[in-house]
Amino acid sequence: MPDYQHHWKDGTPVHLPLGKIVCIGRNYAEHARELNNPVPDEPLLFIKPATSAVHITRPLDFPRNQGAVHFETELAVLIGRPLTRASASEAESAILGYGLALDLTLRDLQSKLKEKGQPWERAKGFDSACPLSPFVSADKFSGGPIHFTLDIDGSRQQTGDTGDMLNPIVPLIAHISSQFTLLPGDVVLTGTPKGVGPLSSGQTLSLELEDLLFVETKVV
Ligand code: ZN
Repeated sequence: MPDYQHHWKDGTPVHLPLGKIVCIGRNYAEHARELNNPVPDEPLLFIKPATSAVHITRPLDFPRNQGAVHFETELAVLIGRPLTRASASEAESAILGYGLALDLTLRDLQSKLKEKGQPWERAKGFDSACPLSPFVSADKFSGGPIHFTLDIDGSRQQTGDTGDMLNPIVPLIAHISSQFTLLPGDVVLTGTPKGVGPLSSGQTLSLELEDLLFVETKVV
């Protein structure tokens, strides 16, 4: 049974339930190109269920019989207020904290589903498909672009700079709230930069968010 609960970096729990995880596909142009996808003209949204969330420090586990599982390192935004058709300033003031997430994806299955024009949930929503780090309070960030990295077994695999996003964080959250209400405790995953690839057993993944957060995890 999933037993995920949001935490702050100092280990104290965030007293908010995780309802849903709203994700955007292709929010970095170079990532869209690496998978030969067109850059969408409006945000491509999908949802991972709360049951897909796990603490990122738990050894990563995933289905083994459905082809490649890719990591996608993403900045995760913790929502602190209800947002329905929010303005940019409402969206901005609802950001409670930032963390890092892995949007784990059954890539071969996703490709098959995409070919058939079917929804991606089976490729993106399985149990443990969303490892989440603890969160850092939003007031620790300067308001400028946010940087994050992923190293696998000591070599740099992904570098994220929110300045490269096609849909920046605040307008993205406002847009999401025009499509469905966000509630306190919901999480928004803001898309992956280029450099995604398959996971394999025994790898060590090290993720860093500015100089504010460092987490490490291993593939089962
Ligand atoms: Zn993603």
